[in-house]
Amino acid sequence: MRDIDNIRSDFPLLQQKVYGKPLVYFDNGATTQKPLCVLEELRKVYTDYNGNVHRGVHAMSDLTSEAYEGAREKVRSFINAGKSEEVVFTSGATSSLNAIAFSFGERYISRGDEIIVSEMEHHANIVPWQMLCLRKGAVLRVIPFNDAGELELDEYLKLLSPRTRIVAVTQVSNALGTVVPLEEIIRPAHSMGIPVLVDGAQGIQHGITDVRSLDCDFYAFSGHKIYGPTGIGVLYGKEKWLSELPPYQGGGDMVDRVSFDRTTYNVLPFKFEAGTMNYVGAIGLGRALDYVNELGREEILQREKTLLAYATERLSAIKGLRIYGQAAEKICTISFLLDNIHQYDTGMILDKLGIAVRTGTHCAQPVMDHYGIQGTVRASLCFYNTIEEIDALGTGIEKVIGMFS
Ligand code: PLP
Repeated sequence: MRDIDNIRSDFPLLQQKVYGKPLVYFDNGATTQKPLCVLEELRKVYTDYNGNVHRGVHAMSDLTSEAYEGAREKVRSFINAGKSEEVVFTSGATSSLNAIAFSFGERYISRGDEIIVSEMEHHANIVPWQMLCLRKGAVLRVIPFNDAGELELDEYLKLLSPRTRIVAVTQVSNALGTVVPLEEIIRPAHSMGIPVLVDGAQGIQHGITDVRSLDCDFYAFSGHKIYGPTGIGVLYGKEKWLSELPPYQGGGDMVDRVSFDRTTYNVLPFKFEAGTMNYVGAIGLGRALDYVNELGREEILQREKTLLAYATERLSAIKGLRIYGQAAEKICTISFLLDNIHQYDTGMILDKLGIAVRTGTHCAQPVMDHYGIQGTVRASLCFYNTIEEIDALGTGIEKVIGMFS
């Protein structure tokens, strides 16, 4: 991997100062910073060849369509999908999850059917299923997790039943950092013919995701969490499912032929891409994936493992600090609380020291309910963070404790 100072120089925002102090950005779980090559790619679309995609016979439209479809191919290759027809662009993970909850629900869910999610899901992978359950009279079942933050797989097996229609689980918990053993979720579900959707919003950027070897049926993620622009996301679905599911939005480009008597739909993946898509965002996402490949995904994984080990050791040594989420398999996210100090106070004081962390429930209120707490402080790291920044966090936390003692 390239030298870390050299890598950091790719990210203009990391050079910022906050309150006169060098910014320490530890909120990568919420959104990641963008390398210059992505910003340059976005500029290039608008200055060099912008035209709406799949619409014109003119050169600008052709060039943009080519770049947009090129981005789809980059996503396909990044997640190792079998066909680019299985890659649908959306506005983000939330929109991908809602799309499946709606379309799958319309086609396959009836009164009394069951849907399984886990206790550690982000609200984006709970609420759309609850809305579906309300609409159709279906029932939501929940896989519990233990205090270390690991899913209780024995309980999961007991939940699977002939009424289960789909299992929807996260790849990585945004609140605890747990890496979910997806194979152990997918295998038993498939043995009963039940499809599995994976929320990859916190997984895609850490390590290597191969949807074909995982054999998941659907996979969702957001561009902005993997160094790409906001407003663009991906929904992967196996062709056999996507071709069966009805579209969830109607409009331009998703149709084949429209008349007042009858409308027929476009082929995959366009059936699920109604209206003008965020094609500039898709092209930017394609460039971000190139960047990650250029750095090396295995190298990123190894560097992030080193950062996690160091941060866990440094923070665990602080008296009065409790880490929530101690799973054997974790990504480099650490959720914690300090004895008798509200998470907002901790977050606000760290901010004054130039350290950006997230505070609150992290859109995972059931996780907080599990521990009987109102929220945590979350430091979510990624490859561009450094050991020195972790030391700054450790010193900052000690300062917070000192102020309240
Ligand atoms: N799923 C998980 C696990 C997340 O962490 C997030 C965002 O933090 C989402 C889904 C939703 O992502 P977005 O807000 O980009 O749609």
